[in-house]
Amino acid sequence: MDEHAAREALLAVREEALTRLADLGISRDDVVQASQGANIDDEHDPEGSTIAYERALLEALAASARARIADADAALHRLAAGSYGTCEVCREPIGAERLAARPIASRCLEHS
Ligand SMILES: [Zn+2]
Repeated sequence: MDEHAAREALLAVREEALTRLADLGISRDDVVQASQGANIDDEHDPEGSTIAYERALLEALAASARARIADADAALHRLAAGSYGTCEVCREPIGAERLAARPIASRCLEHS
């Protein structure tokens, strides 16, 4: 396992998720502004349910980006601790192909 390549891959995953989160922050402000400018009565405002839906969608996307950052951080810690690339269940090496496709993997294919 090339530690340098793994670190680069994990930092790229982290960076991509951070960018995604930043992008969501901007669009979230747009959604909040739209909802403040519109009729506050969500129940009777036909636009209200759309805004609520968009807000929920943004929240879900943000949660997934945050989870990805946490996964990348955890993998970077494993890298520093020397346990990176080892399945946390069976302690067998995680395949190089799997790690290339999914650098944040903490388990082998069998235990994923
Ligand atoms: Zn395993």
